[in-house]
Amino acid sequence: MTDTPTATDTPTATDTAAFPPGQLFIGGTWREAFDGGRMDITAPATGTKLTDVAKATTADVDAAVAAARAAFDSGIWSGLTTRERGRILQRAYQLMRERTEELAQAESANVGKPITFARVVDVNNAAELYEFYASLGHHLDGSVRETTNTKHVYVKTEPLGVVAAITPFNFPLILSSTKIAPALLAGNTVVHKPAGDTPLSALIMARILTEAGVPDGVFNVVTGSGAELGDHLVGHPDVDKVAFTGSTEIGAHAAALAGKTLKSFTAELGGNAANILFADADLNTAIHTVIGAFVFNTGQFCMAGPRLLVERPIYEVVLGILADALPHVPFGDITNPETVIGPLASATQLEKVAAIVERAKKAGARVVTGGEKVELNGGFYYQPTVLADVAPDAEVVIEETFGPVLTVQPFDTEEEAIQIANSTRYGLASGIQTADLAKAHRVAAQLEAGITWINGWALLDAATPFGGVKNSGWGREGGAEAMASYQRSHSIVFNLEQGPAQ
Ligand code: NAP
Repeated sequence: MTDTPTATDTPTATDTAAFPPGQLFIGGTWREAFDGGRMDITAPATGTKLTDVAKATTADVDAAVAAARAAFDSGIWSGLTTRERGRILQRAYQLMRERTEELAQAESANVGKPITFARVVDVNNAAELYEFYASLGHHLDGSVRETTNTKHVYVKTEPLGVVAAITPFNFPLILSSTKIAPALLAGNTVVHKPAGDTPLSALIMARILTEAGVPDGVFNVVTGSGAELGDHLVGHPDVDKVAFTGSTEIGAHAAALAGKTLKSFTAELGGNAANILFADADLNTAIHTVIGAFVFNTGQFCMAGPRLLVERPIYEVVLGILADALPHVPFGDITNPETVIGPLASATQLEKVAAIVERAKKAGARVVTGGEKVELNGGFYYQPTVLADVAPDAEVVIEETFGPVLTVQPFDTEEEAIQIANSTRYGLASGIQTADLAKAHRVAAQLEAGITWINGWALLDAATPFGGVKNSGWGREGGAEAMASYQRSHSIVFNLEQGPAQ
């Protein structure tokens, strides 16, 4: 564990003590990319350079996989008991708590998250994932099987080997933790490739995991471009499992490549959730939920609720309330603890959102509120936007906008609400706002989604599994269920018959 920088009292995202700029973390060592390449990291709140990181080459990927392979094969990690690995994850949890501010500042500056959300959502949830899997280390057991004849059968679990953890730009710390904590608990070693635009918290986590006691080579970080490195990492013969979170298109491409090389693969992909608002709901609570569901993380949330379905008698009332309320949601300066809506994470994301809304307007959508970019400090800001009178098959309705944009459609019956909710290729999250719990159960059972929230949104917890159906992916992250993605079973069968072996 050489060259590990030391902590400072007042760390910031660009603090050279938080992570050494321009360096990869491979085999327990910080070093430059083989060709010395670097790439700029931009602050979404200002559009200016925040810092730079190493731009890895495929040779660096090879080095990271080789380090992870050697660490796995040496047994330095897989040879520990699950409980011992859990204790190291528990230390990581404690270090994350101690460094909440350092992690939150990095995540806020790099992704453009309002600082309060970075603290209470991103760092808090990520730390709790480490805590949850650390505690699971005390409870994971194999099993003994009842058999029909004279045998003794026990089933033990084993790690898979080298895990490639590939994560998207929107929740770098949480989405890496959902993979890395269970992967490490199971005894795997990891090569983490964070999103090209938002790698800073991954570099801080390299330091935290090292200080917690994760041995050299067990956790490695390669920063750089997914377009240049992704296929090489996914197809690498020494990678045993790929845990991918990102878009449906790139996920499908990576899954095909993993299939060719017969790797285990989990896919957490795009979403386009419906939020069904029945007329009997408590409207005050429901409006808060509706707004939070589409502006949280500036709409860059795979489980956002960008499709609001409103029971017809309250359709215009709800549009009126949204038009009045949204201009008052605290917007702008991400360093202000009151701010709720920050910038989009990149200029690319801003242009994508603006273009989709322009096309929706041209197609006849009614702009209830918003619908424009906001000039503010050079950052990538877009108004929270509500669009009504949208065709059920409009692009803005059926595709993932990934911005602070809500479409609103009326419905007349429960059956119609369910039909509209299920009418996209995605199936990640969904929500029902109603005072009628029997109706909530009835409707939830028919929604095609990995998670359904009743009278709330984004109520996530380390113990709760989540994942997609249809084009939103397969496999589950979170909860004890995630362990199945990072372990395989090995059945040991004893013949207890006397005499010749059978
Ligand atoms: P993305 O463009 O698909 O990128 C995801 C990751 O894949 C990034 O690290 C990217 O690297 C990398 N990548 C690019 N090309 C690759 C290749 N050929 N092989 C392997 N990896 C490659 O997604 P994004 O724009 O960052 O994130 C937004 C998407 O993620 C949305 O669709 C959202 O719904 C989804 N998402 C899903 C979940 C979930 O839990 N289901 C959670 C969050 C986000 P670069 O960044 O360097 O290109």
